[in-house]
Amino acid sequence: MAAHDWQAAPIGSLKGVGQEMERKLERLGITTKGELVRHVPRRYDDYSKIMPIRAMQPGLVSFRGVVERVASRYARTRKLHLTEAIISDGTGTVKAIWFNQSYLAKTIPTGTPVMISGQLKFKNNDLALQNPAIETIEAGIDPKEGGRIVAIYPETEGLSSKQLRALVRPLLPLIETISETLPESIVTGNKLMPLSKALVEVHQPTSQKALDKARYRLAFEELWYLMVASLAIKHEIQTEEAPIIEFRVEAAQAFTSALDFIMTDIQRQTAWEILQDLRKPRPMNRLLEGDVGSGKTVVGTMAAVMALANDFQAALMVPTEILARQHVAKLTPLLDRLGYPIHLVVGKQSVAERKAVLEAAASATPTLFIGTQALLSEAIDFRNLGLVIVDEQHRFGVSQRQALKAKSGRLPHLLSMTATPIPRSLQLTVYGDLDISIMAGLPPGRQPIRTKVVGAREREQTYQFINEQIESGRQVFVVCPLIEPSDQSGSKSVVAESQRLAKGPFKGRRIEVLHGRLSTQDKQDVMTAFAAGEIDVLVATTVIEVGIDVPNATVMLIEGAQQFGLAALHQLRGRIGRGEHASYCFLIPESKGIDTMERLAAMEKSQDGFRLAQIDLELRGPGQIYGTRQHGILELQFADIGDAKLLAAVRKAAVGFIEDQEALKRNPEVAMKISALKAVTSLD
Ligand code: ADP
Ligand code: MG
Repeated sequence: MAAHDWQAAPIGSLKGVGQEMERKLERLGITTKGELVRHVPRRYDDYSKIMPIRAMQPGLVSFRGVVERVASRYARTRKLHLTEAIISDGTGTVKAIWFNQSYLAKTIPTGTPVMISGQLKFKNNDLALQNPAIETIEAGIDPKEGGRIVAIYPETEGLSSKQLRALVRPLLPLIETISETLPESIVTGNKLMPLSKALVEVHQPTSQKALDKARYRLAFEELWYLMVASLAIKHEIQTEEAPIIEFRVEAAQAFTSALDFIMTDIQRQTAWEILQDLRKPRPMNRLLEGDVGSGKTVVGTMAAVMALANDFQAALMVPTEILARQHVAKLTPLLDRLGYPIHLVVGKQSVAERKAVLEAAASATPTLFIGTQALLSEAIDFRNLGLVIVDEQHRFGVSQRQALKAKSGRLPHLLSMTATPIPRSLQLTVYGDLDISIMAGLPPGRQPIRTKVVGAREREQTYQFINEQIESGRQVFVVCPLIEPSDQSGSKSVVAESQRLAKGPFKGRRIEVLHGRLSTQDKQDVMTAFAAGEIDVLVATTVIEVGIDVPNATVMLIEGAQQFGLAALHQLRGRIGRGEHASYCFLIPESKGIDTMERLAAMEKSQDGFRLAQIDLELRGPGQIYGTRQHGILELQFADIGDAKLLAAVRKAAVGFIEDQEALKRNPEVAMKISALKAVTSLD
């Protein structure tokens, strides 16, 4: 489409953009004209309601002016700070008074252009504004922009919003020719503003109402594509044939009696839900949510055993090799009792081990394979895979699943297990294709983990406490954000901190390090030694985040705690509190912003991973939390996924579209975009 070509044109071809400007624009991620069009304002200054000072009457007023004079003083008789400013706009002057806001005087020195709105009142026979809202504004609003709502963009040094507006202005006639990206039926059916008009409005609003409509339309589009893609995945899976895994009572009984504990009611109920899915000829696509330590493994294993009892193979995929080995170690005795073999599948393993894996896979014998992403390797020819369980990973890509199907002829059932719950709003958007089981609560007998945010002054005291814990036989995790020191961030690193601790606070203790750059063998040795109680202090990165289970480790100290999301902190903390001894978690932030303290305080107060995830979502937004960040898919520019009304409207439109089988055929461009989005949901 020729009309679109201009968007791909390099930004340097825009009039007025020289090399220097080009570099600045590049800092904002703008290298083409199209990217400039998609560089959306972060907020707006509303000059549309302003009036000249001379014409102002008592009541609500809004105007633009320059600070002529400003002074702050303490009024002893009234016991308050008074800040007074004189503002002029060329047509007149007016006085503004603030009480107890003495810092204001510094932020609006004489000569500052400001925007003011508030109540104009008579006071001592004089008109004055009392405690009005005041905002400093850019000097030199273009006269053309007077009386308008003006876009304020993300800026960079030496490139102001005013300049950005000037760059966008000549493109506006071209923007008007941009063709629609939503199906026509969706636009008209939902009374949406056409894309071209919405983009013009976003850059140069004609009114607040039009701007709201424009933003609504763009938000609608963002969510609509996500929803349609996830519904399309669901649809696709439902048309596949799955291996039927019957419920066999004897197998279920043998399993529960081989366990060395009794499954809780909620575990049984969840297992039942899953086992019901497995009996159907359609592939299961289920997510099991349960807090850290809630005992998801046993539920997943029961499903796996049922697959084995039906002569199918099963695979359990985990994010790290350490975790894979731990699962193998824990499940081998259980599966031995039941008479099924287990094979470990990781990237680096001996030729003999590898050969055994390949043979077991190709022979179609009922076997449980436990491994990392190495399970997906082309070379492993699973002949008879009935069930795939994915632990602690949010997404298993459609394409990965299809690849497994190619080997065994049918799409295996899929169970994902996670401790990071997905809020309802996300369930409805990106995860709309999943069925969800929630396992509330923890198995009996768990002790709460005492959590404390530690300030710089309490550091020594904390080390002393930890030393006492070590004296009484407990083990400790120290978590650092980095592996090696970095000049840029100044955060603590495993390498430097372990040396510092060995010389000072934990002198004489047995200290080891664990991080992603160690060889597999070293990692394995360290974990084995730690589990055997041969290490007092394990200084590690977040490689220990998921699943490691050492009940005697009861203390965790997390450096640079502000860098981690609440879900991640909760996962980390879940490494302790697994045994009979009281457990303690110390969080040491590098900075003490209000946001940081608010988030970390939530950790002190709550042990509930679901609640923490909700708080995290509210404070940080979905993009940060749900792994797909690198794809930018959840970096929504316009949509607020907490907006239930918007979600409902979009969902209705998306469901209707997917149900109409002809709709996708009529809209080949939409179909293309959707398949691109589906690919995005593949494994990170
Ligand atoms: P997560 O849900 O975090 O993966 P795990 O499956 O690792 O949790 O279980 C945590 C611990 O709880 C394990 O040591 C497991 O053996 C134990 N566990 C699980 N279910 C029960 C139960 N019903 N009774 C007692 N202990 C249990
Ligand atoms: Mg687990």
